[in-house]
Amino acid sequence: MKKYTMLLSSLVFISALFTACSDKKQEVKIEKESKKIYKWKLATTWGPTLSPLSDTPQELAQIVKEMSNGELIIRIDASNKHKSPFGILDMVKGGQYDMGHSASYYWKGKDLSTLPISTMPFGMTTPEFFAWYSYGGGKELTNKVYEKHNVLSFPGGNTGNQMGGWFRKEIKSVDDLKGLKMRIPGFAGEVMASLGVSVTNIAPGELYTALERGTIDALEWVGPGMDIKMGFHKVAPYYYTGWHEPGTDLQYLVNKKAFNNLPVHLQHILKSAIKLTAYDTYVKSYSMNAQAWSKMAKEYPNIQVKTLPQEVMNAMKQANKKLLIEKSKTNPLFEEIIKSQNSFQKKARQWTKMSDYLYLKDNL
Ligand code: CA
Repeated sequence: MKKYTMLLSSLVFISALFTACSDKKQEVKIEKESKKIYKWKLATTWGPTLSPLSDTPQELAQIVKEMSNGELIIRIDASNKHKSPFGILDMVKGGQYDMGHSASYYWKGKDLSTLPISTMPFGMTTPEFFAWYSYGGGKELTNKVYEKHNVLSFPGGNTGNQMGGWFRKEIKSVDDLKGLKMRIPGFAGEVMASLGVSVTNIAPGELYTALERGTIDALEWVGPGMDIKMGFHKVAPYYYTGWHEPGTDLQYLVNKKAFNNLPVHLQHILKSAIKLTAYDTYVKSYSMNAQAWSKMAKEYPNIQVKTLPQEVMNAMKQANKKLLIEKSKTNPLFEEIIKSQNSFQKKARQWTKMSDYLYLKDNL
């Protein structure tokens, strides 16, 4: 009996020892796995100091590094390094970069359906766009656009409503647009061109001189927060309100294969950091606009904030509508997105009117 008890306790001891060893093995394995470091590269359309746009991916890299305890490290290459500001989609698609930070409307030449993922003339404001993206079918349509490019696209921050731009002369009628030389890119540029504006594309570094010397009569950039550093207010006194980029959404692009290779917890960390930094960019942009405008208006009291006359606005709306119909015929997915946005905007605008608009109307 005694012999049997001894044998049993030895067995228990051996088995306990074995369990302890295998637990230890497991721990070592987990520790080894968790120490694998993923090194990613991200390319931006912007230069390294174009705040707040250039801040977004830098903040992303910092947050991801901290949240992942150093498991995911993202190196940022600004446009001065990779020299291809408008090649981000191709570089992320091709795998030269794991991620990119840019804006979807830059790819409209390759794929028209990418255009409305940023903003559209006379389209949704930022809160309306956010609501459409998250709860109105926007996310699903965005995935549909980008799945054929084998990349993932996420909202990457928002500039808010952009200003219509700086004009050397006042615009009083549609006739004043004829022959006007203006820098205004994208779909809005096509709208302007159809009303007789001579639309030019000038590199950002040369814009101030072009406006000062009268090579161009007008230009649009972003809003006070980013315009103030460009100095346009010193040479063009009319600052027109916006119609063409009512809530420009920036974009994170992620190579699908690189994303799928990440362990699930790092995928979650990356997606959370994307949301966090996109939100912060919108808030920062709002704050920069408010502060810069306060400074600009004080130092340059001659700046006149103007709204384009109703006649001009109506002509632009008509031109915009016509262009949308023409373009929709060439790309069914573009048409599907425009329809989805228009129908959501109709509903959302009722609420915007009842809430923000009527509140502001009585409280300015
Ligand atoms: Ca702009």
